[in-house]
Amino acid sequence: MQDTHGRTHSYLRISITENCNLRCTYCMPTEGIALTPKAHLMTADEIVSIAQTFVNLGVNKIRLTGGEPLVRKDAADLIQRLGKLGVELTLTTNGILVHNFIETFKEAGIRTLNLSIDSLQKEKFNQITRRNYFDKFQENMELLDANGFNLRLNVVVMKGFNDNEIVDFIELTKNRNIQIRFIEFMPFDGNQWKRDKLVSYADILSQVNDNYSVENVERLTDKPNDTAKNHKITSYKGSFSVISSVTNPFCSTCNRIRLTADGKLKNCLFSNTETNLLQSLRAGESIEPFIFQNIKSKMAMRGGMDADAKFQNPDLFSKNRSMIKIGG
Ligand code: SAM
Ligand code: SF4
Repeated sequence: MQDTHGRTHSYLRISITENCNLRCTYCMPTEGIALTPKAHLMTADEIVSIAQTFVNLGVNKIRLTGGEPLVRKDAADLIQRLGKLGVELTLTTNGILVHNFIETFKEAGIRTLNLSIDSLQKEKFNQITRRNYFDKFQENMELLDANGFNLRLNVVVMKGFNDNEIVDFIELTKNRNIQIRFIEFMPFDGNQWKRDKLVSYADILSQVNDNYSVENVERLTDKPNDTAKNHKITSYKGSFSVISSVTNPFCSTCNRIRLTADGKLKNCLFSNTETNLLQSLRAGESIEPFIFQNIKSKMAMRGGMDADAKFQNPDLFSKNRSMIKIGG
């Protein structure tokens, strides 16, 4: 699945639901979202069938996301079925329901999970998620750790909200082999993005350098196709990274494609064109030609929002879905 810019696509992210048990302000629009009618969403059989087609075409890694993937009623069954496809299976979750899935994860061969947490302070966590689950999150993170899962914590960094917790997050890596992933705040429909709320890769590194001596901050070698710029504090067990889609995009090595819960293929997080695979599947057509067409049309950078000015233009990013309907 090669595009016209020489990139091969082997990593599929599947959103299995638009629902969520949290309401993070940067993801879920204040007015909520109009949920897609159930009949227009992929069933478990359809997800497995589409995923199998992608695996046949060269996908070797699948990430389940949402909304919150674990609120889907048949999530456990789906995870087990996808675990049999012989690819690296993983999940991005807010962690609130993981206690119900420990054995399912193990049976499906899941080794690593991305957990999202934007503040280590209870009140701020509850403020950003507009729900009251801080203690449950902490409990479940410990449970995953005790069960031997590799944990990566996703932190969306926003100026004036949690940029004063960067060092606190890095300190979590002192005695634990976890990876903190600081994510630059990105614009999507309805998330009130403003450039001045952005904390850039450079801002994050500058805070790191103010708090640790330069010789103790190691720049690690990134894996091919890695979206994260990886670092660690020497002698700390874990590491930290920055995902800098806004200030340092990593489009030239992108190997990702996304399937939304209503069965549309997006070749970029920021693209506002989609290909309806579910419709073709239900019509009994082969979905392969539509997949190839979609991948061939992938733009070189951020769905065409290449220059900084385009990226900041609400007329462009508002044509995309809200993040909760894409799946990150
Ligand atoms: N509910 C799950 C969770 O929160 O982990 C999975 C879906 S969520 C949309 C996937 C990831 O996207 C989360 O780590 C979230 O923090 C991130 N995200 C959502 N909106 C974002 C934004 N505007 N900018 C940067 N990251 C965002
Ligand atoms: Fe839900 Fe995840 Fe979006 Fe938060 S970031 S509202 S947990 S989908």
